Amino acid sequence: MRAVHVTTPGTAEVVELDDPTPAPGEALLRVRFAGICGSDVQTFLGTQPFASYPRVPGHEFSAEIVEINGVSDRFSPGDVVTAVPYFQDGTCYACRRGLLNACEHNETMGVHRDGAFQELLTMPLDRLHRADGVDTRDLALVEPFSIGYHAVRRAQVAEGERVLVIGAGAIGLLTMLSALTRGAQVWVADVVPARLGVAVSMGARGTFDLRTASIPEAVASATDGDGFDVVCEATGLPVSFTNAIEAAAQGARLVLIGNGTREVTFNQSVLIKKELDVLGSRNSREVFGTLVDLLERGAVDVSPLRTRIVPFTEATQALEGAAAGAGEDLKVLIEFPPAP
Ligand SMILES: [Zn+2]
Repeated sequence: MRAVHVTTPGTAEVVELDDPTPAPGEALLRVRFAGICGSDVQTFLGTQPFASYPRVPGHEFSAEIVEINGVSDRFSPGDVVTAVPYFQDGTCYACRRGLLNACEHNETMGVHRDGAFQELLTMPLDRLHRADGVDTRDLALVEPFSIGYHAVRRAQVAEGERVLVIGAGAIGLLTMLSALTRGAQVWVADVVPARLGVAVSMGARGTFDLRTASIPEAVASATDGDGFDVVCEATGLPVSFTNAIEAAAQGARLVLIGNGTREVTFNQSVLIKKELDVLGSRNSREVFGTLVDLLERGAVDVSPLRTRIVPFTEATQALEGAAAGAGEDLKVLIEFPPAP
């Protein structure tokens, strides 16, 4: 089978490897589609502090079950699945309290261990989610969807609330979609008009182009000056954090999703004056089943997010393009061949 190897930072190539063999309790999977995430770009560039080389990137994917080692009453060869790509130690203080997503020694596929940019891989059955009748391109979006869905769960977004999402990349738009499933009214802010257009097509109540609109103007037009009940920060930029504080209503919740690397300066008394709940949010394995169910029922449409599909033989160029900040693409999927 063939795999995409990042051999050294900045260099990727397609290599031939032995087919993997599933251990007892594991399935052999044939990958169909895998999304390129920011962390894959970091692995490719060598800016990901946890990556070692060579490394197979990728943690967002859909696949078909080829074979199962053992007996399963839930899965059969031919089933279409997605999988939870995070591995916990099960023993740290977070794991002992049931906070598996916050494991101190979490290992994510494609970063700490080999990922999904390969034709075949093995996974424990207990991390698989079968999806009947779901487009395998959409199914590869469940993992990024889970980041947004967990965030709105953390913020306890409720029906009728006014929510602002800052950042209209794939994660921001999936956060918006998640808030919509809870009956909220959602506005989206970004600086790329094309992305704001996608936000509207996916159900945003309104958008703000922050190249020209100010946060006070956004608060005035969307909330009659009240401020937003929930603000979701999905860029990781310092200015977005201070914008989020400014956009928040008294007593609002602010949830941080964007993984920033730069420091931010702000006056802490504003958190006290507004009595804000500031929440961090990371991955969550618990919501995968819920999201697969939403896709199976056709309750959400994530298809506008997958703006480009490239064959895995062109993964290097796709990673280079993503590293260069490939314009208006939201989610680029790497396609692997179906069963022969
Ligand atoms: Zn742990």
